[in-house]
Amino acid sequence: MTNGIHFRATYAEIDRDALQHNAKIARQVAGESRLLGVIKADGYGHGANTVAEAISSHVDAFAVAFIDEAIALRNAGFQQPIVLLEGCFSEAELPICAHYNFQPVVHQQQQLDAIVTARLARPLSVWLKVDTGMHRLGWPLADVQRVYRELRNCPQVVSVTLMSHFANADTSHALNQQQNDTFKQVCVDTQTMTNLSIANSAALVSTLFDTSHPSSQWVRCGIMLYGDNPSRLAQPPQPLRSAMRLVAPIMALREVKRGASVGYGSTWRADRDSLIATIAIGYADGYPRHAKNGTPVVVHNLEATLVGAVSMDMITVDVSDVANKATVRIGDSVELWGPNLPVARVAECANTISYELLTRVSARVPRRLK
Ligand SMILES: *Cc1c(COP(=O)(O)O)cnc(C)c1O
Repeated sequence: MTNGIHFRATYAEIDRDALQHNAKIARQVAGESRLLGVIKADGYGHGANTVAEAISSHVDAFAVAFIDEAIALRNAGFQQPIVLLEGCFSEAELPICAHYNFQPVVHQQQQLDAIVTARLARPLSVWLKVDTGMHRLGWPLADVQRVYRELRNCPQVVSVTLMSHFANADTSHALNQQQNDTFKQVCVDTQTMTNLSIANSAALVSTLFDTSHPSSQWVRCGIMLYGDNPSRLAQPPQPLRSAMRLVAPIMALREVKRGASVGYGSTWRADRDSLIATIAIGYADGYPRHAKNGTPVVVHNLEATLVGAVSMDMITVDVSDVANKATVRIGDSVELWGPNLPVARVAECANTISYELLTRVSARVPRRLK
């Protein structure tokens, strides 16, 4: 955006050691299972190439949402197999999959027809997605045997991995057991004991992950690589580390009298004389506009709170209490989330999830490698 020259001191620091640390923990929990490093959406906002490089020796393959993301990784030089989690959107993608060893998910009839009628230089490894209850993508149980047989008999296909996705892996929802049971039924129906994949990060961390046949499983690991444990039920054996630290400088400081309001809409009013810091980050950078009054930020290792509405390029923070313990100056850097402030906490204050905050850090925020 600026030919690599950045004067504005707002940036996202990406910690490759943290990515590696988290990948090692995933590996440890997954045991003999194979690991799919999920790096869709530009590596959850961290930079797909940075993440791919950091985790490549800890995972067995990568996964992205669609083929353009996979092509970008090949063009950057990565040789690993890449699963396309949404599969192909047109038959024109199939020869590219064959050429580059992209492994498309097959979740509906048009995708199946395209593969069956294609003439490819090399056969594909495909992932057959079963709808076990989430009702977003995949084949109903009644179709799976037929589709599985068709793929196995197809000369364009060299292997089929059965997969499904939990709708509630982060909680103890009753649908989890039902989805697990349905997936087991699929394995029985298709007489498949190997090449199975149902667990995401939350399922891996919690007991949802079926450890009875670990080597037959592929774990699809996303958010935990980036340092957030999505499970509300369980903790990984060691704490994960935040891979992104979002930072912005204090650009103005002012004293605001008791009773005065701050920002658009005057949505916050000072109930005491207050020191207000204006920080150079806003919703155009990906800071959530719906973050409420009281959302934490970290200044000099102390927590301060967001006050007033989030603007396009700025936020306002009450640093009165911080100023009692440390000297607060223009130019001081503020952590919006990172090692000192879990992104999940900020997400909760903005009524969203860590995934959305991380993937929405915008292109005008430079990523700096730590
Ligand atoms: C994004 C995605 C994942 C990764 O999920 P996390 O919760 O980030 O681990 C796994 N499977 C599918 C199908 C996905 O789309």
